[in-house]
Amino acid sequence: MTAATAALPGSFRPSARVRRIQPSPSSSAAARVRQLKAQGRAILDLTIGEPNFDTPQHVKDAAVAAIAAGDTKYTPVNGTPELREAIRGALRRAVGIEYADSELTVGGGGKQVIFLAFMASLDAGDEVLVPAPYWVSYPDMVRANEGVPVIVPTSAEEGYKLTASALEAAIGRRTTWLVLNSPGNPSGAVYTRPELTAIAEVLRRHPAVSVLSDEIYREISFTGEAAPSLVSVAPDLRHRVLVVNGVSKAYAMTGWRIGYAAGDPALITAINTLQSQTSSCPSSISQAAAVAALSGPQDFVAETVAVYRQRRDAAVSGLAAIDGLQPVEPDGAFYVYVDCTGLIGRRTPDGDVLENDQDIALYLLERAGVAVIQGSAYGWSPFFRISFATDLDTIVAAVDAIAAAVVELAI
Ligand code: PLP
Repeated sequence: MTAATAALPGSFRPSARVRRIQPSPSSSAAARVRQLKAQGRAILDLTIGEPNFDTPQHVKDAAVAAIAAGDTKYTPVNGTPELREAIRGALRRAVGIEYADSELTVGGGGKQVIFLAFMASLDAGDEVLVPAPYWVSYPDMVRANEGVPVIVPTSAEEGYKLTASALEAAIGRRTTWLVLNSPGNPSGAVYTRPELTAIAEVLRRHPAVSVLSDEIYREISFTGEAAPSLVSVAPDLRHRVLVVNGVSKAYAMTGWRIGYAAGDPALITAINTLQSQTSSCPSSISQAAAVAALSGPQDFVAETVAVYRQRRDAAVSGLAAIDGLQPVEPDGAFYVYVDCTGLIGRRTPDGDVLENDQDIALYLLERAGVAVIQGSAYGWSPFFRISFATDLDTIVAAVDAIAAAVVELAI
């Protein structure tokens, strides 16, 4: 091929499926930060949704041992028997339910499992209730699979959590799923047992509605106990609730790409069929590492949660002291969602008026060198999200830089 032919435009036209969705705003933000850093700019990056801790040593050792032992081949579609056993143990501890093999699937991260769950269950026009603010990926995952995301607003008064009455009002003829994410990204909201009990009451009246219970941050909770799960308060609903978790967040294993789900055997079979025709199975080496994470010593989780708590307190108190910002104190996960209504309408030193949270995120990036993600990405404005999955020095420096940049705004 000559250089000239290599440069010719091809005839590729994205499918309607792809045209309906956007690249994940968190991935785009990360790419922008990488680009600025490559240009030599010092950026305090608060966009990253991954622990800055190293994967525990015993987990890495298990992966190395798997390579040495030749565990480098395809595994069963639904994971190795050892991993399924480790997941069963983790779920027993977490939600108090004994799941059978037929109720478990393992995929390339919680993200892939959620995507396949929608792909396995949605027909065109089926609706998925997504309480806002929401994790950026849910609406586009639904759209990519021909479903219709129905955004259900929450409120500050209710701690950014869906109430039973709001759920009752939102359920319609086409409602197929409710997405519940606790602890939530971006708000850090954790549903209490009474709140989940009330939601379960509504669900019992609507047997056609299933729940995708995204518990990826379950272990990262500041309430004194891991976040309760809908299935533990309503075990009768176990086949209508798909419990999703993984090793990314609790064990600092984002790059290993292991997630899992437990639920209705018919749904699990459908997810496995899709997996068998896409990736076949997740990496055998990562699966061996996940066994060590889930069934080995759990001290790492408690130790890192204590560190996250310290960072959360520093971030929340620092941001609360800035005129115009109101951070929402998170009960779990590693994000602070910050109400920046007070900055709207202020004028930058360049004379630009901050009209929305996108303008504010851009201003903080340009003026303070701090990267945050605008609330519009999470369906709730004007807010921005910071991640405290980074070291305390970066958090403190970033809060100081934000404070200095806010002082420069003219009211
Ligand atoms: N769910 C939520 C709410 C998340 O924030 C994330 C990652 O950011 C995921 C699921 C997916 O995590 P993973 O695919 O790494 O398991």
